[in-house]
Formats: sequence, C-alpha cells, structure tokens
Amino acid sequence: MIVMKFGGTSVESAEAIERVASIVRARLQRQPVVVVSAMGKTTNRLLALARLAAEGKQADALAQVSELREFHWNEARRMVIPEEKDNLHASLDAHFEELSHMVAEIAQVEAISPKMVDAVSSLGERLSSIIVTHAFRYFGMPAAHVDSRTVVITDTRHTQAAPFFDLTYPRLQAAIPPLAKSQVVVMGGFIASTRDGVATTLGRGGSDFTASIIGAGIGAEEIQIWTDVDGMLTCDPRILPGGHLIRTISFDEAAELAYFGAKVLHPATVLPAMDKNIPVLVLNSRRPEVSGTRIVNQPPPCKNPIKSIACKTDITVVRIHSLRMLMAYGFLRRIFEVFDRFQTPVDMVTTSEVSVSLTIDNPQKLNEIRLELEGIAGVEVEQGRAIVCVVGDDIRGTPGIGARIFRALEGVNVLMVSQGSSKLNFSFLVDAADLKRAVAGLHNEFFQELDPEVFA
Ligand code: ADP
Ligand code: ASP
Ligand code: MG
Repeated sequence: MIVMKFGGTSVESAEAIERVASIVRARLQRQPVVVVSAMGKTTNRLLALARLAAEGKQADALAQVSELREFHWNEARRMVIPEEKDNLHASLDAHFEELSHMVAEIAQVEAISPKMVDAVSSLGERLSSIIVTHAFRYFGMPAAHVDSRTVVITDTRHTQAAPFFDLTYPRLQAAIPPLAKSQVVVMGGFIASTRDGVATTLGRGGSDFTASIIGAGIGAEEIQIWTDVDGMLTCDPRILPGGHLIRTISFDEAAELAYFGAKVLHPATVLPAMDKNIPVLVLNSRRPEVSGTRIVNQPPPCKNPIKSIACKTDITVVRIHSLRMLMAYGFLRRIFEVFDRFQTPVDMVTTSEVSVSLTIDNPQKLNEIRLELEGIAGVEVEQGRAIVCVVGDDIRGTPGIGARIFRALEGVNVLMVSQGSSKLNFSFLVDAADLKRAVAGLHNEFFQELDPEVFA
C-alpha cells in the first residue's frame, strides 16, 4: 500500500481531479490510499463565511454558501457516472444544508467557538473526498470512500487537535487494508474527530499530517505528498524564485524546514512517518514525471553544508527587560509561564544578563501576554519581522558556516540570532523589508555549486 495525498490546487477543478485520477491509475498495483485536501481555496472561503456570520452578516454568508455550492456541483457533475448523479447531488445538497444551518446558528449568537470553526472548516475535505471518490469511479477505477472522522481520533483542542495514535492506528488497520486490496480508498485530510465523534481539525495545512498518520497506521511502503511544486526546494519560491530541487533530505532536516515556514509540508507530517521509517516523497501533480524529493532516515552525505533556507513572516518579537534579572534565578520560568498560560508557542529565544527576547508567530493573545509580563518587567513589542532559517545536516559541527552566513548577509540588519540548540539549523531574525535580500544573499553564497547526488 502507498498513501497519495493531493493538496488543494491538485484537486481545485474537474481538470485537476482528472490529472489526479491518471496519476493514481498508473500506481494501482501498489494499492493506493488517496488523501485529499479541500478543493482549491475552499477552507479559506469557509472560514471567511463563518466570520461574516459571526459579524451578523448572515445574508452575505449565505450568498457565499451558494457560491461554494455552485462551484462544487459544477465541478462534480462533470465527473460522475449517470447512475450516481442524483445520489451525489443529494449528498452535496445535504452538506450545504448543514452549512446553512451552521451559518444561521453562528449569526444568531454572533460568535463562533473553536468547535464550530471545525464543524464549518471540515466541510471542505468532507466534500472533496466524496467528489473525488465519485470521480475515480467515473474515470474507471473502483473506489471506496472512508470518512476520516471515523478513524482519525484526536483530543478536543479544536482547530489544532492532536491525534491519539493508540486509538487511531487500530482503527486504520481494521478499516483500510481490506478495502485497499480491491479498491482505491479515498479519504479527506485535515479532518478527524474526538472520542465522542465531534469533528476536529489538525491545523491549517493538516492534510499532509493526515497522510502521514494513515501511512504509519497501515504500514504503507511510501507516503507521497502531491502538490504544486516539483518537491522541496532550496528556498521558498514565494520569497525567491529559482531555487533548486532537493532530491533527498533527512526526516530531521525536512521537519526543521517545515517548522520554520516551508509550507510545502505541515510541520507534524514527518513524525509518524519517521517513527515507522516510511519514506515521504514530495511530488508535483502537474509534472508527475519529475522524481521530486525523497525524505528518508539516512540520505546520502551531501557536499553542500546547507540543504535549504526556510522563512517565516509576520513574526512578533517580545523584548523583556528587567534589572531584577541580574544575578536572579527563576526569571525565565516566570516569563515562559505567561506564554504557557496563553497557549502561545515561542519560536526563537535569546537572552542577556538582564533581558530576554523571544518571537511568536501567533499574536492572538499578545495583549494579554503583554499585560501580564508588564507586571514583572519592562516589555517592548516589535511586529513585522521575519525569521530566516538555514538548514543542513551538521551546521553546528561544520567550521566556517557562521562566517559564510554573515558574509552573505552583508548590509542586512540582523535583529536576533539562534544557533546551537539543534545541530541542523542556524536561524536569525530580520525586518520583513530585508527578508528577500537576506534569502537571496544566502542562496547565492551556498548554492553556486550543487552536489549532483542531492540536488537536481
Ligand atoms: P498543497 O495545497 O498541495 O498542500 P501548499 O500550498 O500547502 O500546497 O504547499 C506548497 C507550497 O509551499 C508551494 O507552492 C510553495 O510556494 C511553498 N513552499 C514554501 N517553501 C518551500 C520550499 N522550500 N520548497 C517547496 N515549496 C515551498
Ligand atoms: N484544507 C486545509 C487547509 O487549507 C488542509 C490542507 O489543505 O492541508 O488548511
Ligand atoms: Mg499544504
């Protein structure tokens, strides 16, 4: 068995789904289990209409529901066998009825709970997985739909739920392999449910994570992430085009890149696969002939000390300063407790004798955090920063890399530096206005020559 995950752009239209069908057909003998994202930008649109409803703009929200309904049906009706057409239509209608009811409910209370966010945003993958199942049959492949909510079980942290592997794996093992023997199994990514059957989601971009959970749960031989780029690249194409394809990279390096902003993989994707030592491939659904990136436990040694440069924008810096920190202990604990209480992850930390600077990428609770911290110390907040993260298999142990990095950054004001806690990464903070220049300088420094074993 292999798991094949197709992202939003790969299933954005009937044409795209037809391409997916032909990619899957070419791999039928490997017993594919297909995981799909919501079609195109559906998740964004669902979240936007829920917000409209919460602002009391029920009519506007319902107009959006109609547009989404039309969009889905317009694509779906072109890929369904005549005998199944009425059924599919009724099923889509029922989903959009449910959505309209949710809109009314949100509009009534003029608020939206995280649980309701999940109920709404899960619609995208519920719909796409049903549509793709029908499309596969239309394109001549036997296909069976499995509702991910019945097999992927999570905690109750809505919008960021974490899977219970001990509950999920047995369910996957019971449900999937028997079906996969004779049919292509199709499932929605991103969506799951609590033990009580309430819909949850795994966080934005979470369909990659679903694919990895399923792959690990059924002991797949490979997990394929099909997307809109040729694979993992040496830099983020949204910041700097012209990066090179990385042919092979380690689980650890890929995880580090994902965590520091390489959107091509959800940061948690690597964990289940690494745990079961299942290779993860990143492939392009528009160019299936390209061999993509292979993420494995032990890639071949690489002559380039750096594999890739990731970046994260919209970073907030919190600078905490207090003379009481001088020679005192327990200060860091008090500071981090505040972030813990407001469930806000901290990405980068630097300290000096009397000050601590740290970065967060979710400023939702910033005001509350600031108020609490001001009770202990002086606080300054800076926004509009960016983290650049240089990743390679042994940055900490390779002499001279720091010098090369700073040479490449000439003229860029570096606001924070973090190195040494992981042997894989060197990260630093710059103003958003300097981001492109920083990435271009580094890329130029480290990728003039390429190890042909590792880069294409
Ligand atoms: P999908 O909808 O298939 O999940 P995503 O948009 O989530 O696709 O991820 C693919 C995108 O990730 C690419 O289009 C690219 O812009 C972005 N990306 C960021 N960093 C990298 C990188 N280092 N290599 C490849 N793609 C990257
Ligand atoms: N559809 C979800 C999102 O847009 C999950 C995914 O695409 O991976 O975040
Ligand atoms: Mg994605």
